[in-house]
Amino acid sequence: MYNLELERAVAFIEESKLEDGAKVALQLPDGLVAHSGTIIAELSSHFPQLRFIVIANTVYGACCIDDAAAVALNASVLIHFGHSELVPSSMLLLPVLYVRVTIAVDVPAIVQAISAFFPSDKPLALLSTAQYLSALADIHAALPWTTVPRTPGLSAGEMLGCTVPPIPDGNVLVVCDGRFHLEAIGIAYPDATLYRFDPFNHKIYREEFESGGLAPRVEMVERLRGRPLGKVGLLHGTLGRQGSLPLQRKLVNLIHRKGGEAVVVAMSLTDVDRVQGIAQGLDLIVLLSCPRLAIDWGSQFESVGVPVLTNMEFAALVDEGAWAEFSGKGYPLKNYSKKCNFGSAW
Ligand code: SF4
Repeated sequence: MYNLELERAVAFIEESKLEDGAKVALQLPDGLVAHSGTIIAELSSHFPQLRFIVIANTVYGACCIDDAAAVALNASVLIHFGHSELVPSSMLLLPVLYVRVTIAVDVPAIVQAISAFFPSDKPLALLSTAQYLSALADIHAALPWTTVPRTPGLSAGEMLGCTVPPIPDGNVLVVCDGRFHLEAIGIAYPDATLYRFDPFNHKIYREEFESGGLAPRVEMVERLRGRPLGKVGLLHGTLGRQGSLPLQRKLVNLIHRKGGEAVVVAMSLTDVDRVQGIAQGLDLIVLLSCPRLAIDWGSQFESVGVPVLTNMEFAALVDEGAWAEFSGKGYPLKNYSKKCNFGSAW
């Protein structure tokens, strides 16, 4: 079912012209690590003179690309499976190939289901995760009355758990498995009429989310607005490239300009206990790691003792334009939009 696109990996390694004995690092999301043996066997059959190593640290998303670990392991190149490019290759420490790992879906069946279910005179936006983007393009080509929204910097129709493109009024259909990405639309567009196409059973589901679930986070930011920043802990996620160095530098400067003090703390896996462990003496903690940690586990972070904000919430705290957007309908999720001033877009 998965297309590991190993022909692309083979072509990339050939083009890299590696010396005998050179190391090729492979990185896979947790759900795909079980395929690493198959991948190594296939690549070794093409390149018996090379060595293949798997970086099996946790990978949640494309943000977890671990070029630093690959360099530490003395690898010459890195092949990252399961996601599209998020951190530009010019920012990475070694040559990298991103392999999306597409999942085959029955496009004619989806087209037929959409045609039967949705009226063509009402806007229908199509979205998906990286695995289904080529299918999404084929669906749109067959049904040109649909729209494929785009986040600047990502592919057409692509969404992440922290980044949702602007969605026009009307119906939204997401081709995906699992709930994590769907929830992102529920967070960003609580009024959207949301449907999910299950690529495995070919059924369309109406999806609904509890509205108002993020109101406590907006209220928390509102309470903090206008107060001195004090000592701000910038928790830089070191799980791959979750933490953005350009954003970290920008926030350190901004905090100093606003009379606060910035303390940078590096952390790989971010959980409540670890964050609590570094909270003493801080007035505020800003996560420069996956924003869904604070959004999804917000109530658990209350035990930390100081407010724990996402980068986007911190923007709403210090920037009037961001606050206007944040305090409106929905919670703007555009962490990796190139147009998000305080986002993690590299
Ligand atoms: S930061 Fe975004 S891309 Fe990375 S794991 Fe979180 S939701 Fe996914």
